[in-house]
Amino acid sequence: MRALQSLLLVAALLFARTAAAQVYEFPHYDDAAQVRADCDRLLVDLKQRERAIAALPERGGEVLAALDALNQRVEDLMGPLSVVPAVHPAKAVRDAAEACDLAYQRFNNAFLQNAKVYARLKQAAVADDIDRRLQREELDLFEDSGVALAPAARARAQRLNAELTKLTQDFERRVRENHDTVAFTEAELEGVPANVWRNAKRDAHGRVVLGLDYPSADPVIERAVQERTRERMWRATMRLGGEANLTTLQRIAQRRHEYAALFGFGSYADFVMRRRMVKNEAEASSFLDSVAAAVSERERADLAVLREAKAQATGQALAATTLQRWDLAYFTERVRQQRYAVDQEAFRAYFPPQRSLEFVFAVAQRLFGVRFEALTQTLWHEQAQAYAVRDGNGALLGTLFVDLFPRPDKYNHAAVWSFRNVATKSGRLPAAALVTNFDRQGLTLSELETLLHEFGHALHALLSATRYSIEGGTNVQLDFAEAPSQMLEDWVYDPAVLALFQQLCAECKPVPREMIERAQRARHFGKGLFFARQLVYARYDLALHGKRVEAPLALWSRMERATPLGHVPGSIMPAGFGHLASGYGAGYYGYLWSLVVAEDLRTAFAADRLAAAVGRRYRDSVLANGGQVAPEELVQRFLGRPGSREAFFRSLAIE
Ligand SMILES: [Zn+2]
Repeated sequence: MRALQSLLLVAALLFARTAAAQVYEFPHYDDAAQVRADCDRLLVDLKQRERAIAALPERGGEVLAALDALNQRVEDLMGPLSVVPAVHPAKAVRDAAEACDLAYQRFNNAFLQNAKVYARLKQAAVADDIDRRLQREELDLFEDSGVALAPAARARAQRLNAELTKLTQDFERRVRENHDTVAFTEAELEGVPANVWRNAKRDAHGRVVLGLDYPSADPVIERAVQERTRERMWRATMRLGGEANLTTLQRIAQRRHEYAALFGFGSYADFVMRRRMVKNEAEASSFLDSVAAAVSERERADLAVLREAKAQATGQALAATTLQRWDLAYFTERVRQQRYAVDQEAFRAYFPPQRSLEFVFAVAQRLFGVRFEALTQTLWHEQAQAYAVRDGNGALLGTLFVDLFPRPDKYNHAAVWSFRNVATKSGRLPAAALVTNFDRQGLTLSELETLLHEFGHALHALLSATRYSIEGGTNVQLDFAEAPSQMLEDWVYDPAVLALFQQLCAECKPVPREMIERAQRARHFGKGLFFARQLVYARYDLALHGKRVEAPLALWSRMERATPLGHVPGSIMPAGFGHLASGYGAGYYGYLWSLVVAEDLRTAFAADRLAAAVGRRYRDSVLANGGQVAPEELVQRFLGRPGSREAFFRSLAIE
């Protein structure tokens, strides 16, 4: 009897598990030992799977399914562990998660050089175009890791990969663990919102001590009335990473150049770009040239306006006024306030944080017919939230985690980790984590834009319905990845979209229409400067990864000297520019490139940004397909015509 009862209990538990199995439960990590134990188990399992794949039949084996199962196993553990360093309150747990990632990278580098797995992959059973694309992309990965090189070159590739991993970590650590500070008297901080510095540390002279993190440094550079204050903070941020990072960056560029040469390529840019939309460095350069031609006049006009604003503010004659780099953000904000009477701070009253989250959910509901349902889960912090995403018919689509507010040791930007991908072949549902650092008082309009942008990445992951997890959601070509999020950015400047707030929040006052219109116009001011700066970054990144490796600082100062404001001696911007060292190497142009795609996609929503029929078509053609269809083809399917740059260049011209 007792045995039967417990059997029934087990059956009931099993049933409950399968019924609830679909909602993803974020794993609990109480201590580092638990992370290490899980990590050890993962590595043993991965090695077993590697052997099993190598032992598949030589021809027609289910290699793709096996590789996807391996990827899912990696995601099961490394997925949540990739979120942990950003949000977990315990340092030991965060460190253990980072160490696990390193151990996994070592496995993966060796795995991608496994000649037997590569041979099985070449002869894999493929049913259709989706299978063929996954096979081709996996073969590319193995080949780019050196599996098909002669033995000596293959060994060299492996050593270079290991060295690059280490160099990249060194570079990023020096930026992340920077503890430089700048001290200011309260008078010197005139204009800087008090919430930025009120609770900051004080030095022996009672001065406010500020770090170089964005929430501290940006408001000083943007708002400090005294030029000397802005200059001191700007100069400090331009030393981020330090001289050591210049040496590391040069080594990274040299090793990448050498790596590309193993494959017969004259530049690292050409080596990596052949796998992207852009195809090669020449195409990227000619694209950047056309953007430069479109914005250079506008940049000069913007600079003239800012210089006038500075002359006015300082009471100096225009002829005697020199605009400095540390003036740009400050006077851009000032002109925006004076010309367009826009004060971003004033928006906070209209956009309470939790309501703002519900607002982006409502946008998704209107456009894509999906709804977000709060779940009860014990997460890494009491502020974190979990949501089930359901389709119109109630079917579960995935799970979203949200962590809205800042706290010590938390990641300090806004980002999405799409850490678990859908796979229709194996009935797997996706999960993503949205991490932001919003003020509890509410969001500014540009923060609402950031929230919608990041939420766009989460939607890309959650509304994907790909056959394989490897192709799920945001696993798309690097220069396409930002497009679906960038597309949504200007939704928040549309009064019809913002009106959704009143549907979900009875106590929310509607934002005055003219306030939105002024913000919209103000947004276009400074575009010339913004794009010109993005261009210098993108071109520098290409040059650093070009045919000849130059010393990073010499190259940078030469390129910056050619811009209207020139180069400030002593500033070493490349030392703190994480994109150069990370996986974005020779990829910075991608922000501009995908903006072209985003503007093109937007044209379909020109008449109505909440059109459900267009949203449905977009969901089915673009989001659902993740990376399993080429981006050019996704755009063609959605728009009914090939992609075009027209909308992008039109938008550059909007005053
Ligand atoms: Zn993004």
